[in-house]
Order: sequence, then structure tokens, then C-alpha cells
Amino acid sequence: MTDTKITLPESAIPTHFYNIAADLPTPLSPPLHPGTRQPIGPEALAPIFPMGLIEQEVSTERWIEIPSEVRDIYRLYRPTPVFRARAFEEFLDTPARIYYKSEHVSPVGSHKLNTALMQAYVNKREGVKRLSTETGAGQWGCALACASKLMGLECMVYMVRVSYDQKPYRRIMMNTYGADVVASPSTLTSAGRAILEQDPKSPGSLGIAISEAIEDAAGRDDTKYALGSVLNHVLLHQTIIGQEAKKQMELAGDYPDLLIACHGGGSNFAGLTFPFLEDKLAGRRKSLRAIAVEPAACATLTTGPREYDFGDTAETTPLMMMHTLGHRFVPAPVHAGGLRYHGSAPLVSQLLAAGMIEAEAYAQGEVFDSAVKFAQCEGTIPAPESAHAIHSVRRHALAARASGEKKVILFNLSGHGHFDLAAYESYLNGTMDLKA
Ligand SMILES: *Cc1c(COP(=O)(O)O)cnc(C)c1O
Repeated sequence: MTDTKITLPESAIPTHFYNIAADLPTPLSPPLHPGTRQPIGPEALAPIFPMGLIEQEVSTERWIEIPSEVRDIYRLYRPTPVFRARAFEEFLDTPARIYYKSEHVSPVGSHKLNTALMQAYVNKREGVKRLSTETGAGQWGCALACASKLMGLECMVYMVRVSYDQKPYRRIMMNTYGADVVASPSTLTSAGRAILEQDPKSPGSLGIAISEAIEDAAGRDDTKYALGSVLNHVLLHQTIIGQEAKKQMELAGDYPDLLIACHGGGSNFAGLTFPFLEDKLAGRRKSLRAIAVEPAACATLTTGPREYDFGDTAETTPLMMMHTLGHRFVPAPVHAGGLRYHGSAPLVSQLLAAGMIEAEAYAQGEVFDSAVKFAQCEGTIPAPESAHAIHSVRRHALAARASGEKKVILFNLSGHGHFDLAAYESYLNGTMDLKA
């Protein structure tokens, strides 16, 4: 029997990020200024981002070196293992071979630390003292709080109100890393105050929290803003996931037919798939399929048009060409908080338009059914976000059974669900809105 857990030595931590912008068939549509609607230059982003990250945002260099200081901290949890999900295969009675990349083993429990560390490092190098950000379910806030402390920066987190109330443990975790956390909309910013005037009970949204965090950074010299998904440089940093996974699949003697990851803003999907899509874009793996899986309650890729839209509610960000449900869209409060974003990464949106990737959407009831089955087979309780990928894997594995094909499926377990047990409880005791 081949190994169940496919591991790599620390020396195999990637030395470079893979920049898919170098290999796109057509260049990305540029971001536009919110006022003039003209393409913006890098200098327009300088008040809120450090130059080193802005350079990565617009770079078309294929390989971008990872600083040794960042690689050294990656050693705390990287390379992450790839597992063969034998028991899940057996449960599904499928001829498909199912593998998963386990980003849930990071100290904060998700892939988000990969970019948080790189972003904190570049800010520190440029003399920044404090980072501001938003967080939905709390994973990104935890990742940035942890990375900020490890790199010696202060951290201010605007946490979406509904999660702040429902998920106190994530807040406590951020506080443990020394970060300041406030519920958004808050009274600390004019964007927050404007929302509270209209609706004092506003549950908040990622779009609102982003507006607050940007306003915070733009108003202080010592502070820059950090975003956990969507932007080119964030997706870039996550490509260490797919690079490691490629080596691990080689060790397993398999190459995936199907790559599957959940999709909120697109970063863990990009992280897993882009290094493989390099093969497809070069014509070496024409039949490779990459599938982004989103909640039916926030079906950005499957139902939203691709057009210029704002990244936030208060219309402060540049306009980005992306699949979007509109920047005022407030999704139903489904439990996969990390997937409740109205937009999608411009890079992912463009690949979808080019027919290089696919998208699927599922309701939370079926997603949690698959999450529980997976936990009972493999032991790991997945994050509700990652469970969207698992549900898609299940469907494709059952399709492989029906057609008798020995498909190789690799999915990204982007996080564990240890802070989402209230969601599991609502599923198990029958109070969850299964159709949402
Ligand atoms: C934030 C998060 C996501 C969604 O964000 P992406 O940028 O689409 O990856 C998915 N899974 C987990 C565990 C998360 O924390």
C-alpha cells in the first residue's frame, strides 16, 4: 500500500511564489480609479499598501523569490502533508483516488497564515508599525494577528458583527496574539458610523469591515492595510500550497484529473490550482479540471456577472474587473463566514471567463452532510468553508463510480472546523437552515 500521508522535508519549502499573471492568455483588465474610472497606477495604492506588495500586485514576472526570513517561519508548519482519503473513498465506494492538501495544520488552522506572514514581513521591512484589517469568520484576523506578533507589528482588526457575536473564541484567539478587535460596523470610522445610522442592528459584512479598515490605514502614517484574499499578491503568496502538492502528487505517482477548492475571494483555490494550471496553460495538461466551490447563498462565480465593481461597501477601493453580486450585497448569514464575500479575485474571474476553470455552488445542508461524513471517515473536522470542496469531491467521486472511471481528485482542506462547532451543533440538532 502506498503512503497515506505524503510529506516533504523542510528543504522542500518553495523558494519562489508562482505568478500566473506571467502565463495568462490575455492580460488582466487594470483596476480603475473610483472617481475618474481611469486605470490607476501603483502609486494610487501607496497610502494603504507597502511598495513591496504593490510591486507584486502588478508584476508579470513568473517567479518571485520568497525572503529567507519568511521561509524560516514557514518551517513552523510547512510543508503541509497531502493525505490519501482512503476511508472516505471506501465510504463512497468509488474507484476515484482522493487526496487532500492539509492547510488546516497551520498554527491558526487555515491557509491564511501563508500570506499573512509575507504581508507582515514586507510591511515591517518598509518601516510600518501597525496593520489594520477586516475579518469575517475570524480566520483572516487570527492569521494576521499571529503574523503581526511574530514579525513585531501591532494589529487592529474590524470583525464583522455577526461573527463577533457568534464566534467569541476567534476574537479571544486574536486577543491572545495581542491584537485589538472591534465589532464592525463600529463607531471608530465614518464608514462604520454611516451604516449604524441607517441600521443600528446591522449584522455587518466583509464589504463594510473592509471600508473601516482602509479608512483606519489611510488616516494614520504608521499603519497600512492588509487584505486576506482577492488581490493578486495574496493569491501569489498562496501558490506555495500547489507547488508543494505537485511534488507530493509526484511522490504518490499520480497527477490530478480534478482539482477542487472552496471559493470565498479565491485565495485558497488559487493557491492549490495555479501551479497545476501552469501545466494546462502551457498545453501540457489540457484535460485538467479546476473547480471552485461556493455557497448557494453567495454564488458569486456561478450567478454574478463579470464587471467592474468595488471591493467594499463604501466605494473606497479601486474598481476591479471581477465576478460580483454587487458591492451592496449582504448574503444570508450562512455558517461558512469566510465565503460570504460579494466579489471574486480578478485572476480567478478572468480564468473562469477564459474557460480554464469551472465553478459550482451548494446549499449549506448538503455541505454539512458531507462535512460530517468526512469527519467520521478521516477524523479531521473540516471548516464549513472547506466542506464546500468536500461536498463537490463527494459528487465527483460518485460520478466516477457511475462511469467506472479511476479519476484522481485532489482537494484543498483549507482549514479545520474547531471554532465552528456551533455550526455543527445547529446541523446536528436540526436547527440549521439547510436550504440556505
Ligand atoms: C477565508 C477562508 C476561505 C475563503 O477564502 P479564500 O480566499 O477563497 O480562500 C476558505 N477556507 C478557509 C478555512 C478560510 O479561512
